[in-house]
Amino acid sequence: MLTAEIIATGSELLTPDRTDTNSLWLTERLNSIGIEVKLKTIVGDDDVRMEEAMRDALKRSSIVITTGGLGPTEDDVTRKVAARALNRRLQFNDAVLENIRAKFTRLNREMPEINSRQAMIVEGAQLLDNPHGSAPGMYIEADKGIVACLPGPPREMKPMFDNFVLPKLVARAGEVRVARRTLRVAGMGESAVDERIAPVYKLYTNPQTTILFNRSEIEVNLTATARTNVEAELLLDGLAGQIEERLGEAVFAFRGETMEQIVGMRLAVKGLTVATAESCTGGLIAERLTDVAGSSVYFMEGVVTYSNDAKIRSLGVPEDLIATHGAVSFQVAEAMAEGIRRRANVDYGLSVTGIAGPGGGTAEKPVGLVYIALADDTGVEHRRVILPGDRQLIRWRASQAALDFLRRRLL
Ligand code: AMP
Ligand code: MG
Repeated sequence: MLTAEIIATGSELLTPDRTDTNSLWLTERLNSIGIEVKLKTIVGDDDVRMEEAMRDALKRSSIVITTGGLGPTEDDVTRKVAARALNRRLQFNDAVLENIRAKFTRLNREMPEINSRQAMIVEGAQLLDNPHGSAPGMYIEADKGIVACLPGPPREMKPMFDNFVLPKLVARAGEVRVARRTLRVAGMGESAVDERIAPVYKLYTNPQTTILFNRSEIEVNLTATARTNVEAELLLDGLAGQIEERLGEAVFAFRGETMEQIVGMRLAVKGLTVATAESCTGGLIAERLTDVAGSSVYFMEGVVTYSNDAKIRSLGVPEDLIATHGAVSFQVAEAMAEGIRRRANVDYGLSVTGIAGPGGGTAEKPVGLVYIALADDTGVEHRRVILPGDRQLIRWRASQAALDFLRRRLL
């Protein structure tokens, strides 16, 4: 399998204000043709460092892609550096200069003299046309490896890569296809997930498995390579099936779907409806449910009853229930779920009440304590969870736990 490295150049990428997004995009493209990205470097506009980075990259990887530094100014050093790292000469190219001059003429402007720098080309490089900017890119097949020098601005870099570099790399990579799948797991920790599934996924190097923790869920990412897409998908099916067997209903998505999409799909398939009554999540559950197109079929109403008075007035929670047990209690959560179910005339009433913090916690009711209740025609049930994290995370995790409660009911 071919391996690639990406070198993103530009001093602005080493400041807190700018991110290197080019390499993310390039990685996706390279992966799609079976080329793995082994290393990424971000280097400032410094010719010595950049040369070092490029020489190192060529020792390790068969393909090196650089972005940035092809502009006309003094700090645009990629051309010069690529020549040095490959031990090749820089040559002035008249045709390129004329091309750049013509672009300026078309815009009714005179070409500033510094732009002539952009006509300096690494000896033996194939030039890559840049219809969206002045500098051409370069594609060099050297003994040490393939080097592609692309411009920094994404609107110039992307079409250049797709039009010129990708086809060349496809020809090199041969018939390798990569397929990916993301399984999502709720209600289990990362290490618990790993403990259960490591015995199976460790048996395989293809597909490769990575486990990722993501706010309130665990993502299990599978990547398979094969000669055809169908073969790659079959490899994924095999391992995904074994993982599902080990994790059971904790796996809520097999193709990267979100929790709200899955809950929505199950409600829609069964023709059932839901309404929500939220306190500490402040409408987050309703927002997530309605984020899904077509949710009006099953989501009927959501209320944010933050104060005691609102819980009493809007949901009919008995005043003495709050006085006796407090607003954060399973009794109140259950009364909220029943209240919203009655009021909205739906199949499911889902409620949340808890302490998101940072203040308001006690020994008996700590920050992160959340009660979730679900009412349907058979009655009402609750769950008590203690969620770690800051205020935002607790709110997100509470919304996830509530949606997961409903999802499991719908299985
Ligand atoms: P350049 O003149 O080719 O060095 O690139 C100039 C501009 O391209 C920068 O000011 C950025 O806006 C953009 N750019 C350069 N490198 C990247 C990168 N790796 N990711 C996203 N944008 C970039
Ligand atoms: Mg730059």
